[in-house]
Amino acid sequence: MPSLKRQHHELSDSFVQLKVLNREDQKGAHIPKFGDKLQEIALLPLTSTGVEIFQVNLGKMCNQTCKHCHVDAGPDRKEIMPREVMEQCLRVIREGKGIHTVDLTGGAPEMNPHFRWFVEQVSGLGKKIIVRCNLTIVLAHPKYYDLPAFYRQHQVEVVSSLPHFSASRTDAQRGEGVFEKSIRALQQLNAVGYGQEGTGLSLHLVYNPAGAFLPSSQKSLEKEFKRKLKQQYQVDFNSLYTITNMPISRFLDYLLQSGNYESYMEKLVAAFNPAAAAGVMCRNTISVGWDGFLYDCDFNQMLDLKVKETYPQHISTYEKEALDQREIVINQHCYGCTAGAGSSCGGSTT
Ligand code: SF4
Ligand code: SF4
Repeated sequence: MPSLKRQHHELSDSFVQLKVLNREDQKGAHIPKFGDKLQEIALLPLTSTGVEIFQVNLGKMCNQTCKHCHVDAGPDRKEIMPREVMEQCLRVIREGKGIHTVDLTGGAPEMNPHFRWFVEQVSGLGKKIIVRCNLTIVLAHPKYYDLPAFYRQHQVEVVSSLPHFSASRTDAQRGEGVFEKSIRALQQLNAVGYGQEGTGLSLHLVYNPAGAFLPSSQKSLEKEFKRKLKQQYQVDFNSLYTITNMPISRFLDYLLQSGNYESYMEKLVAAFNPAAAAGVMCRNTISVGWDGFLYDCDFNQMLDLKVKETYPQHISTYEKEALDQREIVINQHCYGCTAGAGSSCGGSTT
């Protein structure tokens, strides 16, 4: 039996994702179906309440290779959203009346050669823009040095991962030297006004647990992060988002290899919160892949679970009315969004 790691490298991406789902199903046979759980609280089928947040994955290329990355991103990934697909996105954003926010993710979205052009176009449409910036990109190459000023110019909201306020815990998850670079990038963002009162420039940090456990209270962690980062590094930020590790991709590999898969899933099921289920982010979000295919959320995108086949599958055939009321594709990983205080790209949901 080849190791999971070897299988991972030997198989093509989409096939790996199928294997992920199969492994998930085989291993967690006793875990109640997520759909049954929704049925119990009269939330099945789970449906969209209308697309308000338009999330775009600009590509899988990244300057980092974090341990828990659900995108499997890295410097060797070549998938990058072409400009033609960006233009199709712009058409939908322009015409989609309910869409108020455009959320840019990757990889490192800044590594897409059309990134700045796209931000300028979206900014011109008067939409709120969120960029999921990994911080170290700001220092990765001279062509990125002016990113803080560019973000300020377009009033971009910056959301960045910082797993911990200690260097060792952050580096263990995100790579050697990442903490020190992240702090320098945060200081640069602060210097142009991010995270400072009265500027309107929002800088949010994202925390995710280092292992197979749920995050603790968002409010108390935020307090601790604010105190430590200010005291030790003179860094300010607005909010801390706590995010539950989703049992997919690299984190699923870790769970399986460490023998923690079943106990982690049991923890998620035991912490199932009906209020969090009602507020899962897929209900007001749509996620566009680098190649223009449509998904209910970023996690489904990583598992190659496209929107249900009865709806338009690609940005080029986007139909607002149908997608605003679509039935959402769910699976066992969805327990990651409904545990405890809930989890989304914007932190806890309850
Ligand atoms: S910075 Fe983000 S996209 Fe890049 S490897 Fe880390 S988690 Fe993945
Ligand atoms: S994983 Fe995606 S589809 Fe499932 S509940 Fe979370 S946001 Fe919705």
